[in-house]
Amino acid sequence: MSERVVPLLSAETIAARVRELGQQIADEYRDKNVVLVLVLKGSFVFGADLARAIDHPRCRVDFLGTRSYGEGTDSSGVVQITQDLSRPVEGEDVIIVEDIVDTGLTIAHLLELMKTRRPASVKVCALLHKPARKKVEVQVDYVGFTIEDRFVIGYGLDWAERFRNLPFIGVVERG
Ligand code: 5GP
Repeated sequence: MSERVVPLLSAETIAARVRELGQQIADEYRDKNVVLVLVLKGSFVFGADLARAIDHPRCRVDFLGTRSYGEGTDSSGVVQITQDLSRPVEGEDVIIVEDIVDTGLTIAHLLELMKTRRPASVKVCALLHKPARKKVEVQVDYVGFTIEDRFVIGYGLDWAERFRNLPFIGVVERG
């Protein structure tokens, strides 16, 4: 069976939106100690670009490792923490940075987890949002793009660990 990647969002389109999100966050967190919590592995590319788009002298970056998918493309709903934060976030203003909110199960779980760490506030920034697949109600405060129910890859997003290194976002078509 052959496969080809059909582009959905170009590198230029993504970069322009990431710049806007960065400016918005820098404005809204001007007087706060903001901590970007990058959810690994999927948000490593988006998070790196977003962090550099946020012009803020007291912005910290930390990482939270999760695993919610097996080799397939359907969410198991089970979120396993594979790597915890390196420092406490108590009293700080946290933004959880996700590649994509699909069913919402992962982010709902991470929001509960984060609240136990007593931050001053927690918001969610997701590059992509797929509202059609929603299973739980979660507020996504900053959304890059709302997309249809397609399994997307690239710009950090994988398909069985492949395609994370693509500079754009696409859909795999098999025929
Ligand atoms: P949720 O728990 O919201 O269903 O899914 C969250 C996680 O599932 C994301 O962080 C991502 O790792 C994975 N995921 C959901 N939809 C997609 C998709 O279309 N493509 C890829 N590559 N991963 C997805």
